[in-house]
Amino acid sequence: MPRRTNTKDKEPTPPSRAQDQPAADSPEPIEVVHLEFGEFPQVNRLNPRFVPRRERLKLTLDVHPPGDPALAAPPALIEPLSSLLPGLHRHRCGENGRISETTLRRARKGEPAGEQSADVAHLLEHIIIDFQHEIAAMKICSGVTCGYERPRNRYDVFIESPGQRVSRLCITMACELMNGLLKGQHPDPLYVRIVRLARRIYRNGSAPIAAGHGDGDSQTAAALRVLRELNFVEEMDASINFSRVPLYCLIEDNGNLKS
Ligand SMILES: [Zn+2]
Repeated sequence: MPRRTNTKDKEPTPPSRAQDQPAADSPEPIEVVHLEFGEFPQVNRLNPRFVPRRERLKLTLDVHPPGDPALAAPPALIEPLSSLLPGLHRHRCGENGRISETTLRRARKGEPAGEQSADVAHLLEHIIIDFQHEIAAMKICSGVTCGYERPRNRYDVFIESPGQRVSRLCITMACELMNGLLKGQHPDPLYVRIVRLARRIYRNGSAPIAAGHGDGDSQTAAALRVLRELNFVEEMDASINFSRVPLYCLIEDNGNLKS
């Protein structure tokens, strides 16, 4: 789960902080190596659905250890992922296939470790797309995942971006979600709350959010904390807010509050 601070609010046990968490020095199954934004015209031909000159993110990641038998196999992740993100079933993949078909397609024949890590990177691509689509109401969002020759467990994921702030949030959530699933954790429904709240704030620029102590409120409070910690929203200055409900604003890509 994305980082959460401890509070007295009632909320589900953060799955990524459970006792089965590996030691701090063991690498996460997915590690982000680098992130940048640009047009990257060199990948235009790799996906005919790419919109020319649209800004894309380029996420370089290592998937390790490839083929670790302690990790869940990617095909086993599709069902829990789809229950959390039902939109995944509607994704078109490759030649109009579905993600469940193409994820199982062997990218590197005869090399199980490479196949598994390629599937992990490819699933991550689709989760980022799904999150971005939900938050920013993108009509279409396309991507492609490319494997390196060396190191063999490194990938570049290119995805059309609706804006850097949204993309960074979605990348962080997608990596946390995938790392938890690969380690055998159940998907936390809080992700859906976070996405819904992010969508509401993104589409309106700001939103009054009452996060008190009721059951629903504590879920909202947990989602809001994640969005604040990940620098997606900030509370608006109280001097210009006449209601008692705190107003939260999207932080724009240039660091300003959206008003
Ligand atoms: Zn795909």
